[in-house]
Amino acid sequence: MNYEIVIGLETHVELETKSKIFCSCGGHSEANEPNDCVCPACSGMPGMLPVMNKRVVELAVTAGLMLNCNINRYTTFDKKNYYYPDLPCAYQITQLNHPICTDGCVTLNTSKGKRDIRIKQIHMEEDAGKLVHGGKSSFVDFNRTSVPLIEIVTQPDFHSAEEVVLYLNKLKSMFRSGGISECEEGAMRCDVNISVRPEGSTEYGVRTEIKNMSSFEAIEKAIQYEAQRHIDAIEFETEELVQETRRFDDASGKTFAMRNKETEADYRYFPDANLMPIVIDDEWLEKIKSEMPEAVDEKAEDYKQAGISDKEIDMLISNNKISKLLDDTVALGCNAKDAATWILTDCAGVLRKDGKTLADLTITAEKLAAIIKMVASGDINRVAGKKVLIAVIEQDVDPVEFCKAQGLDRKVDTSAIEAIIAQKIAENPQAVADFKAGKEKAKQALFGACMKELKGAGDPAIIKEILDKKLENS
Ligand code: ADP
Ligand code: MG
Ligand code: ZN
Repeated sequence: MNYEIVIGLETHVELETKSKIFCSCGGHSEANEPNDCVCPACSGMPGMLPVMNKRVVELAVTAGLMLNCNINRYTTFDKKNYYYPDLPCAYQITQLNHPICTDGCVTLNTSKGKRDIRIKQIHMEEDAGKLVHGGKSSFVDFNRTSVPLIEIVTQPDFHSAEEVVLYLNKLKSMFRSGGISECEEGAMRCDVNISVRPEGSTEYGVRTEIKNMSSFEAIEKAIQYEAQRHIDAIEFETEELVQETRRFDDASGKTFAMRNKETEADYRYFPDANLMPIVIDDEWLEKIKSEMPEAVDEKAEDYKQAGISDKEIDMLISNNKISKLLDDTVALGCNAKDAATWILTDCAGVLRKDGKTLADLTITAEKLAAIIKMVASGDINRVAGKKVLIAVIEQDVDPVEFCKAQGLDRKVDTSAIEAIIAQKIAENPQAVADFKAGKEKAKQALFGACMKELKGAGDPAIIKEILDKKLENS
């Protein structure tokens, strides 16, 4: 029998705020030592009272708008009780009864066409601390307690690991572009709920939940393993499936049962009377909307219209800094497709040689635009442009001054090019003979020698043309 995989995701995302969700401690990324960013409130001292961070509400609403959710104008917090040493109050402040966003939708472009994933809800909550185990003792680090999170809960609408990874990448792009979260490793964590059912069936199978995964690669592997385990259990009656929480072990590629799933009653949820309900009025909602960045889908569409390839678009929209550099360069009068190539191919190439990535790129839009314009107008050729780019990236020179100083901006007339080519052909009879004998490489070597002599001046296409002609006649 064929089975359909059914997956629902609960994704926790750490928000990019200056302070924690209910106190004024800085974000835990600022912490150097354990318990650096801790105060009586977030370490759960008796009598502490939470004070709501307004920015958390705004970022949660922004996320909801990006995911086409209803924004609930009246939203409240609840206490979720459980005892664990990393949770100093023995309850977590979260949202159960009136979450901030509900009923959204996100569209994925999968290899099998467009797929809609329904968002059940988004709620705000605080993170817990971290336990550090060492020898006979365990230590607790409260830097992460009360770091603001949003949890995005989908309906069970995914049917493959591919869809799950597309969705997570889409969230990542949106959240980065919206200043919601950088979604660095560990700042985006997923619980994967999974079940299988016979193809064509509309009933849901028994589900298991794989907790707390942050690597996309591990998520894919875990889904594959767990789906097969479910299918085997049903098909060959190898074991009885029970609703439970499991963990994925990267080393073995298998999942293991952790504990039976708590029911809602175990958590003894009740409204948190220490926090006032939050009311989002029209004015506030409009303000949040007006501060939202262009939607990722719209931006991707703009880039597509400009002729930028799908692969390049993916790179751009997942990197806020780089897409901003592109937008700024275009605003200075450069062609978008051209600028995308300069950034994603040329700049990336220069950085790669030093073991760096685009994240390390510091070139300004002004300098990049100056180079692109000099090349586009024919003042210098592309090879020379690349030289200028390297000098700008490595030594932050002024591109126009650099061209003048290096003599790159001189326009070379064809007679000068012809003279140099003739000279190189005369100097390298062996290369000419090799080329005549069918070695294409020999021509490349001659071309390189000419380019070197011209120090990047002259149009490579013209140089090639003249070289071809001269070789034919020699
Ligand atoms: P609970 O209240 O037990 O946490 P929810 O209804 O909130 O359950 O669902 C939690 C997650 O599990 C959601 O993402 C949902 O889409 C997913 N889910 C629910 N039922 C199934 C199922 N049969 N198979 C796969 N995922 C499921
Ligand atoms: Mg749930
Ligand atoms: Zn604090």
